[in-house]
Parts: sequence; structure tokens; C-alpha cells
Amino acid sequence: MTIMDLDQTYVAGTYKRFPVEIVSGKGSKVWDANGKQYVDMGSGIGVTAFGIGDDTWQQAVTEQLGKVQHTSNLYYTEPCAYLAKLLCEKTGMKKVFFSNSGAEANECAIKVARKYSAEKKGPDCYTILTLVNSFHGRTLTTLAATGQEHFHELFQPLTPGFVHVEANNVEALKNAVEENNLAGIMLECVQGEGGVNPLTPEFMAAAETLAKEKDIPLIIDEVQTGNGRTGKLYSYMHFGVTPDIVSTAKGLGGGLPIGATLLGEKVQNVLGYGDHGSTFGGNPVCCAGAVSILERLDDAFLASVRRKSGYVFASLHGAPGVESVSGLGLMVGIKTTAPAGDVVKLCMERGVLCLTAKDKVRLLPALNIPMEDLTFAVETILAAAKELGGNI
Ligand SMILES: *Cc1c(COP(=O)(O)O)cnc(C)c1O
Repeated sequence: MTIMDLDQTYVAGTYKRFPVEIVSGKGSKVWDANGKQYVDMGSGIGVTAFGIGDDTWQQAVTEQLGKVQHTSNLYYTEPCAYLAKLLCEKTGMKKVFFSNSGAEANECAIKVARKYSAEKKGPDCYTILTLVNSFHGRTLTTLAATGQEHFHELFQPLTPGFVHVEANNVEALKNAVEENNLAGIMLECVQGEGGVNPLTPEFMAAAETLAKEKDIPLIIDEVQTGNGRTGKLYSYMHFGVTPDIVSTAKGLGGGLPIGATLLGEKVQNVLGYGDHGSTFGGNPVCCAGAVSILERLDDAFLASVRRKSGYVFASLHGAPGVESVSGLGLMVGIKTTAPAGDVVKLCMERGVLCLTAKDKVRLLPALNIPMEDLTFAVETILAAAKELGGNI
């Protein structure tokens, strides 16, 4: 049996995989089982923030692996404590809860918002507002938070207490805040899975103002947008808002599973002994890797992300076969005239791995992608978009 046969026989059929078996990689290049080389414009859905086998990250991880790989949360470890300090110093948040994924980071955010609001406003205050087209995870509660009906259908009943309003509709947001006894407002500054749609500064400002006025915790889901992806450390920093809770995951671990929920001043002491926990959360190997990522996301590095972003947007904007380009930093959505899936397929044949989001081609390259690889990828995408749809 081939690896593809084995996988299709024994792995639960939840993923529609591309017909490619990846065996190794370095930086922004990966190789498949036939030895074919690709430039990786997906970085494992925004996870391998410094590419594959990044030397600094690999050294941090293997060093920790040689000391102790797991202790449980009954004991102190240096990587966990140090990572929490770094996250707080770089954001102004006060405390961190560590978990293993984006969904878990959001679960914690929701639990904190609910406990804060129940204690302040009574047990009826539990409803969390999220946006239509949002994506917050696959657990039953984060699915309920996710504002996309088609994810909900087969799994009823979901956790109650979520309402969804249209993104960038300030009036709808105001009405929903009036009509519901809200325990939280939860937003992605750029909707990732929903089609790489940035929120407007007006909408972000309105959300912050309403949240402050009504003492509703403002939760920013930075699972995809965080850790330098948009050209700032966290995407909310583009908008000048101060969230009460920030959840993050994907790129933070550089390729190992980690989730983090950052708690601001207002909610810093909401969680007490026994209120929440995770066996693997704060794992020293994952945290050591995350420290090596976060330490390098300084102003100079973030400026390089914005420069690369500028090149990508300028190259794609108005090109033949490209209808529009959306996103922020190195989180890019491309509406092509041809179906996105066809463009991605042709790019793959020509040695470039891309993602899709809704009807768009989506790019989430490593933040340190060499210009040479980025140029090759952008030119390949431009050629594919033009050939498949440029004449229509
Ligand atoms: C990927 C993602 C999640 C879920 O993260 P998992 O690690 O798959 O649980 C949640 N929110 C956003 C915005 C995401 O992009």
C-alpha cells in the first residue's frame, strides 16, 4: 500500500488532502516523496512562522528536549514562565493561560469572559457576540462561536449563548449590544477562514467603545493573525484598540502545538485555582520553541514582513485574472477570475503550494520567506491566474 492508500484507509476522513506526500523541507521549500520541490506559501496554515527546520527554533526545541520534555502543571518550568513574561511584556497584558491549540485558546477566552460577566452582572449574562463568517475552532463551543451555519448543521445542539452580527456593520453591532445581555465581544481583526476579510477601523473602534461603555470583555482571536503575521506583533495593534482578552496559537509555536490566552488588567484575576487546566498546556518543549519565535519578532523584523507584504500586494493588485486582493501583512486573499481551486492546482503542478479560503486563493508564507522564493511564488501565481482566467 502507498502512504496515500494507508492514510485513506486508516485516518478518519475529515480532510480533503492534496495528492502530495511531503517528506522534508527547509525554510520555505518543501520536498515531496518524488523529490519534487515546492515553495511553501501556506506554512502549514500559518504555523511554521520561520519556515521549516529553522535553525534557531530547532536548537531551542532540541535543547529543551534534552532536559525534560514534560513535567505536568504541578511543577514550575522555565520556558513556560519565560514565555508568559515575554507575551505580557510585548503586549501589556497581565497573565497568560497556556493550552495546545487555537480552539482551546478560544475556549479559555470564552470561559474567562463568562466568569467575569456572571460575577459582575449575574448568571444570565453569558451571551458572546461574534461575527458572521468568523472562524473560532472545532470544539462544540468554539463551533457555536463560529458564525458559519454550515459548520453547525450536523452537531446540534451546540453550546448556547452566541449571537452573530455582520462584519463591519456598526449599526448591527450597536443593535446587538442593546438587545443582548453580552458577556463578551469576540472578533478576528482579519477573518482568515472566512475569506481573508479585514475589519474596518470604524468597526474596531465601535466595538472597543461599546465594550468599554458596557463593561463587556473584548476578545480578539489572534490565532491566525497573531505573532507577526499581519506585520504587527498582533493584528489589533494596527487598530489602536486595547483588548481585554487575546487568544493566539498557530504561528506562536513555530510548528509545535501551543495555544495561549492573554488576559488584560480587567480579567487578569478571573481564573483561580481549579477554574481551568490542561495536561499538556505550557509544555516546556513547545514553550521553548515559542520563546525563540517571539524573541525575534522585533520592530526591524516586523518591518521586513510589511515590506514583503507591500511587494505581494503591489504585484497582484490589478493583474490579469486577479479581481481583488485582500488581507494584511503576509496574510493575503486573492480573488481570481478563475476558480481558486484551479489556480491552486496549477500552482502546485508548477511547484508552489497555496491555500484557499472560501472563494479566494490564500497565502500565509513563512514570515522570513527569502525574497527569491517569494518572487518565484508570486510570479507563478500571476501566470496561473492569467492563463486560467485572464481573458475572460
Ligand atoms: C485556526 C483557527 C482557529 C482554530 O485553531 P485550532 O488550532 O485548529 O484549534 C481558531 N481561530 C482562528 C481565527 C483560526 O484561524
